[in-house]
Amino acid sequence: MSDMKKEEYFALFERLIDSMTQPTEFDREEFVGILGDICKLFHLSKGVTEFYRSLSAEKNGDGEILIDYDNGHGDKVVMFRRLVTPSMTVIKSTLYMAEEEEPLSEEDYRRVDILLRSMLSFISRNRLQTLVEKLGFFDEDGYPNLNFFMRSLEKLNERGEITGNTVLQFNLRHFSLVNREIGRQAGDVVMRGYFDQIKKLIGSSGVICRIGGDNFIALFRSELLHSVLFVIEGFPVIYDTRREKRIMVSACAGVFVIPEDFVMNKPSEIIGKVFPAAQEAKFNPDCNIVYYTDDMNVRKERFMEVGKLFVEGLEKDEFKAYYQPKVDVETGKIVGAEALCRWIRDGRVVPPGEFIPILEQNTDICRLDYRMLDIVCMDVRRWLDEGREPVRISVNLSRKHLIDVDLLEHLLKIIDDNQVPHEYIELELTETTTDVEFRDLKRIVNSLRSSGICTTVDDFGMGYSSLNLIREVPWDVLKLDKSFLPVENKDDRGSAEIMFSHVISMAQSMGLECVAEGVETEKQIDLLKKNKCKIAQGYYFDRPLPVEEFEKRLQMRSYEV
Ligand code: C2E
Ligand code: MG
Ligand code: MG
Repeated sequence: MSDMKKEEYFALFERLIDSMTQPTEFDREEFVGILGDICKLFHLSKGVTEFYRSLSAEKNGDGEILIDYDNGHGDKVVMFRRLVTPSMTVIKSTLYMAEEEEPLSEEDYRRVDILLRSMLSFISRNRLQTLVEKLGFFDEDGYPNLNFFMRSLEKLNERGEITGNTVLQFNLRHFSLVNREIGRQAGDVVMRGYFDQIKKLIGSSGVICRIGGDNFIALFRSELLHSVLFVIEGFPVIYDTRREKRIMVSACAGVFVIPEDFVMNKPSEIIGKVFPAAQEAKFNPDCNIVYYTDDMNVRKERFMEVGKLFVEGLEKDEFKAYYQPKVDVETGKIVGAEALCRWIRDGRVVPPGEFIPILEQNTDICRLDYRMLDIVCMDVRRWLDEGREPVRISVNLSRKHLIDVDLLEHLLKIIDDNQVPHEYIELELTETTTDVEFRDLKRIVNSLRSSGICTTVDDFGMGYSSLNLIREVPWDVLKLDKSFLPVENKDDRGSAEIMFSHVISMAQSMGLECVAEGVETEKQIDLLKKNKCKIAQGYYFDRPLPVEEFEKRLQMRSYEV
């Protein structure tokens, strides 16, 4: 080999090493150039490198050409290399020369071989990395995933550009309803359309990823927050361009505006802030957008603690039923009672407001409800055995039960195992917010009714009260939320009274028994009487009572009115 050729060879080798150690991504053009120069230096006419994802893909010829060079002068094969990686991807390279060309000397053959093998091993590794990237950083629908997001945070942080950005985690509202209304396929189009809209808005300096189902996370310059929130509040997405069909999509979101002095040690520090805000937004029907505040993490820790202590509390029988009497306002007679849960922990009576919202974040609440029903059934059974005349006791059932197809069976098993006649048990359920829940609710109330168990719609008037709820579901009792009761010295007292009396007369004409809860004053009792709302529950008569206290009231049977 001439000195000049040797020098060219070394230069080529250097260039190859340079390209292979570049931190940038695989530069196809560069490698095509190197292959071309190898061919020129050694008088080769053509070079082709192919890549296959698997052995079977190779068999079926289903691969891609990664780099090629062809001067059109002939195709006599001079070298063929095939590399199978441990993950069974295949990379193949073939070099050709013209028929009339001098064959390669042994030395040249070795040199070409070294160049080609270095190139192949590099490309195959690089290709593998791209594949792994695809698997690790994108989900099955091609959306970038949480890993992608974390890596983007690290990249930004590395460049010192993390501050000045805002992170937003959002969940599409009622997306299962959207799917049901327009079909799954159109639903996919809608999700993509909404995603693209935000992606366009946040531009190339932003990142948006899907983190499972209809949950997303995005990072963008803080000055864009206002326009992003505009889309979050509600944006019409076209899902059928031909027929111009569109649907309104909105989301609930947690927001973390990264402060100027924020120091990120690892990406989870940012995720850990936006996540609790997003959780709160999701579970708070009154608030679409929740900003992160420092006390959220304290709350989150308490959440986790409650979750842990709950199981222990169940084992140690720390949950008790307190009974609040329901009273006939005309006669003062106790006609029923509601069982309300209290957690007796370290001598303190913990009210449900401190733990039920936490247990409702997963299905722990269902275990608690079953326990409460069991306690109530045991008490009723004991009262019967002791010859006391029990009253009907209502137990609260969380909405979380609605998806349980075996709910009725579970309830009946507890009641029947305790040998309690069904007429003594009543179940209180609250209003639903989605159509899907509504359908389940209807099914459950219907089946309870056929088993002879009374049902109550609880807190009516508090949330999304809909008339359909009482028209289409065969409830026995309608319980008016305390916010419905007119309160003295309040401006809207007049209209509250009108509403109150209308709802009662409507419920009565539908054959529903009415109970007013949260009754505290004599004036309110008078109002109930005037409107023929027969039953009241509230501090006016008694607070929820421990079982021994309640038993005394049962003995007494009635209050003075
Ligand atoms: P709820 O079912 O609507 O229960 C009525 C709530 O109103 C009770 O609060 C009761 O103590 C309170 N209350 C009764 N009379 C008055 C009054 O005159 N004035 C005022 N201001 N409040 C009155 P509590 O016991 O704190 O329970 C709160 C909520 O927790 C319940 O609302 C119910 O939704 C839930 N809860 C309680 N026990 C259970 C349970 O075992 N399972 C489930 N799933 N939820 C429960
Ligand atoms: Mg209730
Ligand atoms: Mg209530």
